[in-house]
Amino acid sequence: MTITPLMPVYPRSPVRPVRGEGAYLIGEQGERYLDFASGIAVNLLGHSHPHLTKAIQDQAAKLVHVSNMYGSPQGEHLAQRICDNSFADTVFFTNSGAEAVECAIKTARRYHFANGAPERKKLITFASAFHGRTMATISAAGSEKMTSGFEPVLPGFETVEFDNLDAAAAAVDAQTAGFLVEPIQGEGGIRPSSPEFLQGLRKLADEHGLMLVLDEVQCGYGRTGAFFAHEHYGIEPDILASAKGIGGGFPLGACLATEKAAAGMVVGTHGSTCGGGPLAMAAGEAVLDVILEDGFFDHVKAMGDRLRQALEQMIPNHDHLFEGVQGMGLMLGIKMKVDSKPLVPFLRERGLLTVAAANNVLRVLPPLNIEESHITEFVERLSSAAREFEVPAS
Ligand code: PLP
Repeated sequence: MTITPLMPVYPRSPVRPVRGEGAYLIGEQGERYLDFASGIAVNLLGHSHPHLTKAIQDQAAKLVHVSNMYGSPQGEHLAQRICDNSFADTVFFTNSGAEAVECAIKTARRYHFANGAPERKKLITFASAFHGRTMATISAAGSEKMTSGFEPVLPGFETVEFDNLDAAAAAVDAQTAGFLVEPIQGEGGIRPSSPEFLQGLRKLADEHGLMLVLDEVQCGYGRTGAFFAHEHYGIEPDILASAKGIGGGFPLGACLATEKAAAGMVVGTHGSTCGGGPLAMAAGEAVLDVILEDGFFDHVKAMGDRLRQALEQMIPNHDHLFEGVQGMGLMLGIKMKVDSKPLVPFLRERGLLTVAAANNVLRVLPPLNIEESHITEFVERLSSAAREFEVPAS
């Protein structure tokens, strides 16, 4: 037998973390990494944050799991806080981002079903998107790389070019339920929507009675310096999928909706055995305690500006490698002139953790509570690594 006990679906790197301290990850042999990947935009408070750790420990000692057959004081409280701070009137808790997107898709379709238009099933989605790895979410993203061998893909999605409002408008027909879009594409290469695009989708949705569904699994929850990224665009969605940072590393996701959009989500239409359990709720509360503190989002914006400036100053010294910086807040991508993938292990060997994304982008996703000293250390070490890096022959 050659298969490994862990199903070999990940190209796992030699980093084998066993501990974390703030912005640093520590490997099996005691080696330290400055973690500007944050578990791909998950550890928004860094590692071993005392408030998050204590909340999980305290809750674990009281109650870990109960069924959604029972009342959930923990879920009600967290859902209320999320609603109080967002466009939403109601929240369904999940265990992951893909499940949050699944719930968002179901909510959008069910809205039309409840409103006497069950034929409105089609979600218009966008090329280079990433929505997760379930059958519906790979079908929604429409990339062959993810669907190959898993066919048949689910019908009911039509993918058009990202940030192209005309293409989105042209795809609207009598079967359309809504749009599903990441305000800032993450896996697709840290590509923010233009204001015209996102505002245009909102307008199209209003004109045609469609649902605007945002996937803020990667870009939401403070990462851009606002609670949700759409706030920068002056629009509100009908439905939104959140995950990653929402639990600070504890598995948690959420589907948020307005009362109107959730019209079809009545008793018996959806569920999850562990979704919204007390332990996840405690983690979610602890994350909110920190990120909703006065000044937290300003800190993210200030650190984001500082990191962007420092990267932009460094780029001319390595202009054979780097083209520019894109993104918002602490969701940044360095656009490279060459494939970004070989640089990631090169940086890792020098103690820096980053993530590659599509379109030759190196993702820089530090914890949101980093300080200037982390930025200085990151950029100095990145610059010195870039001096040594030789572009592999293709
Ligand atoms: N949506 C977006 C925008 C994501 O970036 C991801 C994960 O990278 C997902 C959905 C899926 O989240 P999960 O891996 O928690 O299922």
